[in-house]
Amino acid sequence: MRKNIVAGNWKMNKSLQEGVEFAKALEAALAGKTLKCEVIVGTPFIHLASVASATKLNVAAQNCADKASGAYTGEVSAAMVASTGAKYVILGHSERRSYYGETDAILKEKVLLALENGLSPIFCIGETKEEREKNVHFDVVKSQTVNALFELSAEDFSKIVIAYEPVWAIGTGLTATSAQAQEMHAFIRETIAEKYGKEVADNTSILYGGSANGGNAKELFSCPDIDGGLIGGASLDVEKFIPVIEGF
Ligand code: PEP
Repeated sequence: MRKNIVAGNWKMNKSLQEGVEFAKALEAALAGKTLKCEVIVGTPFIHLASVASATKLNVAAQNCADKASGAYTGEVSAAMVASTGAKYVILGHSERRSYYGETDAILKEKVLLALENGLSPIFCIGETKEEREKNVHFDVVKSQTVNALFELSAEDFSKIVIAYEPVWAIGTGLTATSAQAQEMHAFIRETIAEKYGKEVADNTSILYGGSANGGNAKELFSCPDIDGGLIGGASLDVEKFIPVIEGF
């Protein structure tokens, strides 16, 4: 069965101390609530081990290297991420693709290394505003998915969480309508079904990301193919993040 997931992406925010305090406060605020989703916090690398040991929250890195180990100054490998206690790694975020030149080929390597090290990738895909206006958004999302993921075995693919994040909606306050998001999520699930069969597709969690917040989460999460959210801005504040989690 696919899981409902709400994952926060802190991006490059919070000092180590602020991050640990935030994580403890989030855990305390969630204690005693009956959650209908798994909660993940996506922290900068340096916070991972501390947050994983200070709380029972599920922790995700926001990136990992496309090489296993060696002379790659400044990089952090999938094995290192796994050694912190993190269970997930966000890969292919549009900010990584556009600011750091991460191509489908690079992401394919990162996905393989993440899986080899027991991490579940939260794999981000999504079109730009121009691509949607040109009506090529389905083609873009399909090629991002196929190029980076479709050489995986069905067993490995079943460890992937997909995050559909229209680039025009990330950090802009412009959320996709629930109809736009549902349409794309259904398309992604159909694309997965064509390759891996209906059972694998039905069991894949597909999250929506892009200016999701406490005001729109309930409507988005009520769509049949939306299994949760990858949340940037609204995950940085406990009071804003809880209503998103309670969107389920
Ligand atoms: C993100 O960073 O993945 C994201 C969806 O950001 P925001 O919620 O701020 O749009």
